[in-house]
Amino acid sequence: MKIALYPGSFDPITKGHIDILKNGAEIFDKVIIAVARNSEKHSFLTVAERVELIRESVKDIPNVEVDSFEGLTIEYAKKRGAKVILRGLRAVSDFEYEMQLSQANSALSNDIKTIFMITKPKYNFISSSTIKEIHLNNGDISKFVPECVYEYLKNKK
Ligand code: ADP
Repeated sequence: MKIALYPGSFDPITKGHIDILKNGAEIFDKVIIAVARNSEKHSFLTVAERVELIRESVKDIPNVEVDSFEGLTIEYAKKRGAKVILRGLRAVSDFEYEMQLSQANSALSNDIKTIFMITKPKYNFISSSTIKEIHLNNGDISKFVPECVYEYLKNKK
């Protein structure tokens, strides 16, 4: 069984994330989407809120599991039997950071490979931080996030 891990902050999950996740779910037998707990410090939503919103957003994709983890991504991947780390690329600006991360991870464990997927042009500019900025300034984020995220954030500022 080929398992991929899709790790991130997902603060909150966006349609860009979902796009990458769906592609992954078509290729791998199972994708574990997991919120990194060490991203809690400066976060907008708690890990529990983020996990719940991801659960609701992906409930129709059967081979996706939602979780959270603490510590090194590579250690969590090993524990879960995932040989692949899935990451998304939007623009050249993502590249340098993602390349460093992927090289650091392969230096830690050569068994686990990172695979990058390029997002659809329509999701190119979507990031969790842009969404938060628009939302906190009373802009409409309904086009950029799953419906449940939109509904949840309505009451949260
Ligand atoms: P992190 O803090 O680990 O970067 P994010 O939640 O910001 O967590 O992103 C998780 C992954 O999803 C990263 O690989 C990021 O590049 C990717 N990603 C974020 N937004 C998009 C998007 N709109 N389209 C495609 N990939 C995206």
